[in-house]
Amino acid sequence: MLVSELKPIGEILGSLRPGERVFVVACGGCAQTTGAGGEKAIQTLKSAVLEGEHPVVGALEIPFLCNKALIGLKLSRVRTTVDKAEVFVVASCGVGVQAVATVTGKPTVPASNTLYYGAFQGVWPAEERCARCGECVLAETGGICPLTVCPKGLLHGPCGGSYQGECELEPGRPCGWQKIYDRLAELGRLDLFEKFRPPKDRRRALDVPLSRRRTTLWDLEFWEE
Ligand code: SF4
Ligand code: SF4
Repeated sequence: MLVSELKPIGEILGSLRPGERVFVVACGGCAQTTGAGGEKAIQTLKSAVLEGEHPVVGALEIPFLCNKALIGLKLSRVRTTVDKAEVFVVASCGVGVQAVATVTGKPTVPASNTLYYGAFQGVWPAEERCARCGECVLAETGGICPLTVCPKGLLHGPCGGSYQGECELEPGRPCGWQKIYDRLAELGRLDLFEKFRPPKDRRRALDVPLSRRRTTLWDLEFWEE
């Protein structure tokens, strides 16, 4: 169970280019349970995106966004609208956002920050991973998480050991930042390498934010909200 919360609307809109046609996807699994997914998130995001003067070409809740086969199946049923979309806005944990980016091959903007594992760790049949950093940057990295794809968790580009697409730490292991570069090149978004990104607030990556731990029963209280 990955606990996430919706990002400020201004941050989500700031990741969209003017007039981009948006398809909203929300997870009906963990994210819905923790209040940042499902139909509620879809309605919130659709209104916000429309107010930001972006056409919404489609919206869909998918039961578990960590399952790429399920994403492919559900989106194939609305293929016409998917083809019209220029960008996906995704309300889910970081795993779901990465899975949508991989399946669609389109720019993907996270609508949420992933905070922590709630009580137990989820299991997903895929290679995408989220380190629950609390400040999701997938909008700027082509939907590939730099914290988990690079063994050093580098956030602003490759280290000096990246050579011919391989990571210096393990022969045969692809360099995570090479993957990010290749994805952004495919998407025509290499301009994102030039965007200034402030240092990460590592306090957001504390396993469970103090604001959620008001008493020793913090986990049970959270589900009742
Ligand atoms: S940037 Fe990576 S670790 Fe942080 S929330 Fe997004 S997917 Fe998770
Ligand atoms: S070579 Fe690439 S993946 Fe390996 S540590 Fe350096 S930047 Fe990260």
